[in-house]
Amino acid sequence: MYDVAVIGAGVVGSAIARELSKYQLELTLIEKESDVSTGASKANTGIVHGGYVAKAGTLKGELCIKGNSMYQKLNEELNFGYKKTGGLVLAFDEEDEKTLEKIYQNALKVGQPEEEIEIIDGDRIKEIEPHVSDQVQAAFYCKNIGVTSPYEFTIALAENAVDNGVDLKLESEVINIEKDNGYFEVETVNEKIKSRYLINAAGIYADRIASMLNTDDFEIYPMRGEYVVFSKSQSHLVNSVIFQAPNPKTKGVVATTTTHGNFMIGPNAEEIDKKNDVSTTFKEIKYIIDQARRSVPDFDTNRMLRTFAGLRPKSTRGDFIIEETEHKGFIQAAGIDSPGLTSSPAIAKKLVNILKDSGLKLNKKDDFNPQRPAIVVEKDEDFAGEIDHQEPKKNIICRCETVTEAEILDALSRSIPIKTTDAVKRRTWAKTGECQANFCESRIKKIISRELNIPVEEVKNRDEDYVPERLDVYELKKKLNS
Ligand SMILES: Cc1cc2nc3c(=O)[nH]c(=O)nc-3n(C[C@H](O)[C@H](O)[C@H](O)COP(=O)(O)OP(=O)(O)OC[C@H]3O[C@@H](n4cnc5c(N)ncnc54)[C@H](O)[C@@H]3O)c2cc1C
Repeated sequence: MYDVAVIGAGVVGSAIARELSKYQLELTLIEKESDVSTGASKANTGIVHGGYVAKAGTLKGELCIKGNSMYQKLNEELNFGYKKTGGLVLAFDEEDEKTLEKIYQNALKVGQPEEEIEIIDGDRIKEIEPHVSDQVQAAFYCKNIGVTSPYEFTIALAENAVDNGVDLKLESEVINIEKDNGYFEVETVNEKIKSRYLINAAGIYADRIASMLNTDDFEIYPMRGEYVVFSKSQSHLVNSVIFQAPNPKTKGVVATTTTHGNFMIGPNAEEIDKKNDVSTTFKEIKYIIDQARRSVPDFDTNRMLRTFAGLRPKSTRGDFIIEETEHKGFIQAAGIDSPGLTSSPAIAKKLVNILKDSGLKLNKKDDFNPQRPAIVVEKDEDFAGEIDHQEPKKNIICRCETVTEAEILDALSRSIPIKTTDAVKRRTWAKTGECQANFCESRIKKIISRELNIPVEEVKNRDEDYVPERLDVYELKKKLNS
């Protein structure tokens, strides 16, 4: 019998599991895929938002501001990669300038400290972002915006939760739930699990989980966002995070630089039918490129590396749904679309309070260890690695990102068992460089095969059967240049 079972190892479920692992509790985190962070938490913009978009009085507004303020300390503990960069919302005409004023006023209402926000123009904008368009007339400057690596954050939370005693069950899709004699019986494809409390953090499938207990007061529908990632040669173009003032025609797209130094643009917002359709399309990618050029005109589409898409789990109730249901002990953390990544540490704290109010006894552990070391090792410019060097710390497996065998071995030996080359990618950044895995894929497969003692032909890139239709970047460049 577990005290608490959490369904879904995205950033929300993983943050909740880690927060609960500070207490003397029997905990399990249940995930249908073979790794954590394969849903919305894998494919998003990676922005630690400022919280000025959501209205005052909403959970989105409150928890975004709280979550943002927790990132610095979390990164010191968990080493996932976070940078406070600041962010600008650009205005291109008078209407946009009026929108900036509204954003500023809303930011104050939602709880942004006055010293963190200002409206700036002219030289100030160019000082912060020398490469923005000359058409920009003013900008809302929010200093506490940052960027993070969303999947490294999720992995770090889940790994630290497991290190502190959480029982992570991968490849364990929940297919039925019964409530009986004061506890929940959660049936997965592998086993039946008993738990006194149950948390629904199943992302885009949270409505399906809720309906297993006949709780159907919301639906989750997918809102796709597509992106283009560029090589590091373009990273000088953006220092902070660049947004555009929303208008009735568009919410605008973002231009940002990831924590690993890749220039990235997107997302759009498309309502789609299928809950797993992370394809990318020429029409939408072209729209994103055209929109991003309004902010930063000079990026080079010949330096595009790949496109990808993520699905926002939008709820029919609009705001985050974080509440105990009519079934005592069954708690929703559902409809967590943007800014859910930012809010996740604050969502976890709120969940713990809901559990406490519902009667769960919370006694702190003496031996909770908040620390989790980084996997990616910072290397000096004169790092003397070599291909096929016998020493793992010097043996370079991914040439583009200088990922060593030692880093891959470290990823494979952590407390979340992994077996695909994409799982290695999410931990080490191998496969993400200019050659897009042409050089390192087979080398990573050989290491996984050797370490897990399985034939190399059985090592896969990814576990999911569904392979999204992503635009071929070579074809995309040809089409854009024609
Ligand atoms: C395009 C886009 C851009 C975004 N940009 C930002 C941003 O810049 N900043 C920000 O703060 N937020 C952003 N967000 C929002 C953020 O990504 C989400 O709020 C967050 O990732 C949601 O996390 P989650 O854990 O609820 O969902 P998920 O990450 O989807 O996790 C849910 C998990 O539940 C598992 N699951 C589902 N069903 C079952 C089952 N039956 N049994 C077991 N497991 C199950 C899934 O496999 C999955 O791993 C963005 C989202 C998108 C899509």
